[in-house]
Amino acid sequence: MGGSYVDAIFRRKECIYCGLCCQNTEMVLLKEDIERLTRLGFRKEDFTVFKDGYIRLKNIDGHCFFYDPKTGLCKVYKHRPLGCRIYPVIWVEGVGATVDDECPLSHTITHEELKLGIKLLKDFLSKLKREYA
Ligand code: SF4
Repeated sequence: MGGSYVDAIFRRKECIYCGLCCQNTEMVLLKEDIERLTRLGFRKEDFTVFKDGYIRLKNIDGHCFFYDPKTGLCKVYKHRPLGCRIYPVIWVEGVGATVDDECPLSHTITHEELKLGIKLLKDFLSKLKREYA
């Protein structure tokens, strides 16, 4: 599953770059995410935190390390973690795969996009399971 495949579906034309999904992030990282971001020159200890059994994106001043509040953009957008690419399709304990209604565009997700998002999310979760077992 390559990033461009995911992006082809989930880089929403309508994204309004509200940055809401980058505030107080708890996004869990895969090994491939960490490797991709360290290859750009970022130090793992600067952008990650270990919390509740997972390596996650670190927050600085209440937003993701990579979020630029001046521009409202992700500084590593093309290289961003897989979980960020699949958003707003998320996994909620006790609910399962769902669309995060905090995203202002959550209601615009089509049935096809949701179906693919769920498939991608399942792949992501099985990778997580393998890596954090
Ligand atoms: S990596 Fe980028 S898209 Fe993901 S939470 Fe951080 S700023 Fe947002």
